[in-house]
Amino acid sequence: MNPSILQTPIDYLKGVGPSRATLLRSELGIHTYQDLINLFPNRYLDKTQYYKINQLQRNSAEVQIIGKIINLKTVEQKRGKRLVAKFMDETGTIELVWFRGHKWIRENLKLNTSYVIFGKTKYYNGFNMPHPDMELLAEHEKNLRTAMQPIYPSTEKLSNKGITNRVMSKMMQQLFIETKVRFYDTLSQEIINDLKLISKSEAVFNVHFPKSQELLSKAQYRLKFEELFYIQLQLITKKLIRKHKIKGFPFTEVGAYFNDFYKNHLPFELTNAQKRVIKEIRNDIGSSAQMNRLLQGDVGSGKTIVGLMTMLLAIDNGFQACLMAPTAILANQHYMGIKELTKDLDINIKLLMGSSKVKERREIHEELENGTLHILIGTHAVLEDKVQFKNLGLAIIDEQHRFGVAQRAKLWHKNTYPPHILVMTATPIPRTLAMSLYGDLDISVIDELPPGRKAIKTVHRYDSNRLKVFKFITEEIQKGRQVYVVYPLIQESEAMDYKDLMDGYESIARSFPAPEYQISIVHGKMKPADKEYEMDRFVKGETQIMVATTVIEVGVNVPNASVMIIESAERFGLSQLHQLRGRVGRGAEQSFCILMTSFKLSADSKTRLETMVRTNDGFDIAEVDLKLRGPGDIMGTQQSGVLNLKIADIVRDNDILKTARYYAMKILKEDPSLSLEKNKVLLYTYQQLAKHKNIWNYIS
Ligand code: ADP
Ligand code: MG
Repeated sequence: MNPSILQTPIDYLKGVGPSRATLLRSELGIHTYQDLINLFPNRYLDKTQYYKINQLQRNSAEVQIIGKIINLKTVEQKRGKRLVAKFMDETGTIELVWFRGHKWIRENLKLNTSYVIFGKTKYYNGFNMPHPDMELLAEHEKNLRTAMQPIYPSTEKLSNKGITNRVMSKMMQQLFIETKVRFYDTLSQEIINDLKLISKSEAVFNVHFPKSQELLSKAQYRLKFEELFYIQLQLITKKLIRKHKIKGFPFTEVGAYFNDFYKNHLPFELTNAQKRVIKEIRNDIGSSAQMNRLLQGDVGSGKTIVGLMTMLLAIDNGFQACLMAPTAILANQHYMGIKELTKDLDINIKLLMGSSKVKERREIHEELENGTLHILIGTHAVLEDKVQFKNLGLAIIDEQHRFGVAQRAKLWHKNTYPPHILVMTATPIPRTLAMSLYGDLDISVIDELPPGRKAIKTVHRYDSNRLKVFKFITEEIQKGRQVYVVYPLIQESEAMDYKDLMDGYESIARSFPAPEYQISIVHGKMKPADKEYEMDRFVKGETQIMVATTVIEVGVNVPNASVMIIESAERFGLSQLHQLRGRVGRGAEQSFCILMTSFKLSADSKTRLETMVRTNDGFDIAEVDLKLRGPGDIMGTQQSGVLNLKIADIVRDNDILKTARYYAMKILKEDPSLSLEKNKVLLYTYQQLAKHKNIWNYIS
């Protein structure tokens, strides 16, 4: 094969032309022949089967029937006309229905002539098939038939402009015939033999023109494996480079700060999971390689203390540390909490936020540069170029989903060597996803909650039960507890959402009148100072109810709050619901989460609500979430390559992913630079892929 032919602009393909090319580019990102070849079918229709009309069943997939049209009539209805044909085979009749394109059909359809029709049937006073695919039986028999007909990804605009699936298939045929594309094999003979894979050329051909179900499966396996294999190869290479080449600062000492804190000031016994994770971290930072570790732990699992103890190790070794949080509220909470925990240690800790005063900033900059500031806690403000450390050895990022790749990279340049990095996240990332997203990170998991926590009881209630819910709140408040009421805030409908929030607030204020009850309200449109004031009143227990939008989602810690009411819960995603619920259940009391919804619920909403009621386990929830939404919508995947996968699916192809990872590791272990003769093809392909930037925009 001449690889350059694949880089030919799509305009040059016979039958494409400038206007179609423009559409292909804008709608599907197809610029070159290669891009078209990489447009893999979403699914396939089985065209080997023919149905008789008396075999039709309700709710079946697409069917293919041979028969004749015996009459055609236009039916007037309230909303426009429809064209109805009676279609008959030797076992019965069904109706074919068209809502558009009547003229063309009337002029072209032949009565009493054999057709093969294809489509999905509906049942309403008998079977009918809206907008069937039709082909004259005579034509049908002449055509080259592939058993499985590929259905290509498309958009509304494409089909409106006449680029139907049939046109797409034609273009694909044209490409394969015109260019006689052959592919050099992109995997080594060793892998091909081991896994009994079919060749690249055979795979690409059969994925577009499957000769049989069996070959199609083999083709898909081969291409999915290859795609996942090269991603893993890249992620693992990166990790190896980091481990071997990127020097870090070895924190060899376990010194006075750490020991003093551990022996004298730790307010509780660490859980086994916390101890294990601290050990994992110590192993990393004690070596001379840079640590790049993701710490996952459900809300309330106690990640902060692990972070703090890691920072103490940094200080013990003469380094500075910083802790970054995504919101001012959370940064402030970390600051207060860590100040309190370390009040008997001689440590200088400061808080830097966007709102910090000039004088404060100047002081912070100065102390960072002369080394007298040990720990800097803050928001994105920490990343500013003006913020220079004397000797930054450790950076901790809390709730990393909110921080992009570029921001993480900025931290790397705040010292001569990159500091050790610990990323803490409360959104459990399913293992499946973690492997492909963060394959270059090491992962620690706190999978155990501190003792004495009672599992949060979660229920689902309809809006019509609001009075009962209010009664329940009243009882909890009388026991001295506090309550969150959270409203959705979704950008597009902001004005509406604010109205919901304010209406809700007023209704609560009527049911819980001052002075007996005090209510805080916090939302994104408030000035930071007002937000802080309201939060603060709730934290201090001066208010019993906190009405808020999701600004409280992340990190807020009020152990006395025992009830979380989520309004319009059907509008939240699973991970968000789980995060919100994590705001309660932080104290010793039994906590509750009440999911309020209207009666109208989609199937997905129902699954989300049921999942929340069923389990408190974040990993379990994350797996359900991943299945419901696919990886594309999971937070944090946007900037990663999983979205750009051409054929593999992180969820469904998990087994292939594991195999791919196994082979990538095995090969790199034996031949880290891929310089052995047998791996030459791997190195070449890897470099080609890097050149055309298909999959290399991964998190680093
Ligand atoms: P998260 O992992 O959500 O950040 P935090 O670090 O905020 O959790 O911890 C939640 C609460 O649990 C805090 O009040 C913290 O002091 C407490 N906590 C953490 N570890 C333990 C432990 N081992 N035993 C008892 N309480 C703990
Ligand atoms: Mg936290």
